[in-house]
Amino acid sequence: PFSRADRLLGIEVSGIVRISEAAALLRAEGKHVIDLGVGEPDFPTPEHVVDAAFQAARNGKTRYTANSGTPELRAAIGKRHDATEKEVLVSTGAKQVIFNALMATLNVGDEVIFAAPFWTTYMDMVQIVGGRAVVVQTADTGLKITPEQLENAITKRTRWLLLNNPGNPSGAVYRPDELVALADVLRRHPQIAVMSDEIYREISYAPFVSLRDAAPDLRERMLVVDGASKAYAMTGWRMGWGVGPQSLIGNMAIVQGQSTSCASSISQAAVLAALTGPDDYLAERCRSFRDRSLFLIEKLRATRLFDCAAPDGAFYLFPRCARALGMKQPDGKVIATDDDVSRYLMQEAHVAVVPGGLFGSPGHLRISYALKQDELADACRRIAEACGRLT
Ligand code: PLP
Repeated sequence: PFSRADRLLGIEVSGIVRISEAAALLRAEGKHVIDLGVGEPDFPTPEHVVDAAFQAARNGKTRYTANSGTPELRAAIGKRHDATEKEVLVSTGAKQVIFNALMATLNVGDEVIFAAPFWTTYMDMVQIVGGRAVVVQTADTGLKITPEQLENAITKRTRWLLLNNPGNPSGAVYRPDELVALADVLRRHPQIAVMSDEIYREISYAPFVSLRDAAPDLRERMLVVDGASKAYAMTGWRMGWGVGPQSLIGNMAIVQGQSTSCASSISQAAVLAALTGPDDYLAERCRSFRDRSLFLIEKLRATRLFDCAAPDGAFYLFPRCARALGMKQPDGKVIATDDDVSRYLMQEAHVAVVPGGLFGSPGHLRISYALKQDELADACRRIAEACGRLT
């Protein structure tokens, strides 16, 4: 009686979960595993934000809010993105914003263009709602979509370009001139909407520019996706928001209204405090991520097995591991794929990293550096030793 719906065919539990399970097995044997697969900041949620949540709970802000979010929070988000309150939808995480948008707009067979390496959820969500993913490989174009690639990917069925800026797992941040060049292509195709997933916008090592500001004439067909998870270290609070034209926001609110209703009232109060309170810690945290990225790059380059471009933001490195392929493990087994490298590092170094194939770009690894410096240093030592045992 519980056979899967057709829309779930081919969708499996994420490969990243498999890696966590392998790590859990080793931990159960008493091994100390360092997880460089994590996708969340290691910082705590700021104290004034936690206080605001306590206060909200004590003051009876414990009921449903308006489905689209409290007026105060929508106004604060509007201010952040130069939009009106009616152009804002508050959801249970950026993930729900993206799901609402795809669900509200895609018919079966409609196409969504996005870059590989991609956040794995894009692929699965597009498929769940019956759309077709059109993946542009950027492993050889600096991990960013070029205007030519975008033009070539567009068909009569294209409904969305989904741009992730700063990118997970790429760590790439589009420069203003690159955004302008993509906008030029989009102007030739007025039927295409653009979703700009900017969940990592506070973690950008050069000043961040949104497509919404680089090409304001496209705002009428643009949805910005943003949230509190990465910026304010609030992954567990599940708060995200979409900013876009009122008509789209209204349709997304219909999907949300029939699935989860409003986001948590307590979390909304907390995020209001995050957006309106002191935020000097953001730049400090961003600097700390950058320092850790530089440390990790230096250590990985020293192994001579990884080609590491410096990321411009987020908290991931996405090095090529091609030089490790073809090498022999101490047990004689030859390493043939990025998956093998990931398995080897787990078994030999007790370090978890994610193979790039899971993000659509095999031959790479995703390595998160959102870890305490001493753990990161320990992981680098172990990786170097394990790499030294390859012949
Ligand atoms: N978009 C990207 C690119 C992400 O990496 C993530 C989380 O990993 C999200 C969206 C979702 O964030 P949230 O916690 O707000 O659902």
